[in-house]
Amino acid sequence: MNLFDLPQPSVAIAGSNDRYPVRRVYCVGRNYGEHAREMGHDPDREPPFFFMKPADAVVCQAKTVRYPPRTVDLHHEVELVAAIGRRGENIPKNQALEHVFGYAVGIDLTRRDLQKEAKKLGRPWDTAKGFDESAPISAIHAAADIGHPSTGRIWLAVNDAVRQQGDLNELIWDVAESVAELSTLFRLEPGDLLFTGTPAGVGPVAVGDRVTGGIEGIDEIAITID
Ligand code: MN
Repeated sequence: MNLFDLPQPSVAIAGSNDRYPVRRVYCVGRNYGEHAREMGHDPDREPPFFFMKPADAVVCQAKTVRYPPRTVDLHHEVELVAAIGRRGENIPKNQALEHVFGYAVGIDLTRRDLQKEAKKLGRPWDTAKGFDESAPISAIHAAADIGHPSTGRIWLAVNDAVRQQGDLNELIWDVAESVAELSTLFRLEPGDLLFTGTPAGVGPVAVGDRVTGGIEGIDEIAITID
């Protein structure tokens, strides 16, 4: 392989041979009240916020994901992912969905032990959130095909035992608000993914576990941790 022949991270687009090239991966933290509370925070006093993962942390339709090094507490976080399809900054909330190309189901894998240490020491979350293969994702489904879902069951199971369950209507910042808010911080471009936060019930996974999840009306995801 040529040294500079590097793969462009990309996500399958359902019903198309085209792929969605990933530019940036933004994530919303604590965007469901019950999850904020299970993490020890008051969603009424602390609004959601953003962090990032590197583009090549995205693995689309992977059968297996490697258990990462330097953790003994790898957690699952199932999330609705919005894929940006149009450039914009300072996007008004009532125009924000026009910038969303489509939606996918993603898992924000998290080294919870490193995140706890980072929080305690006031350090960045990069090692907790941005490791290799930390962003498994389904195909993207175009909004032109499925619309812009604002309700629908979101769930995750480990070895068929349901661990996370919620509904998209429980998002503190819905997709339009999240996109509008994010666009006040960064100019959004096609290729930008936004993981919109996880409902309550996060917990650990182990080597050999089969992790499945889905969002009603969008897609499902299934990976084995190895
Ligand atoms: Mn998350």
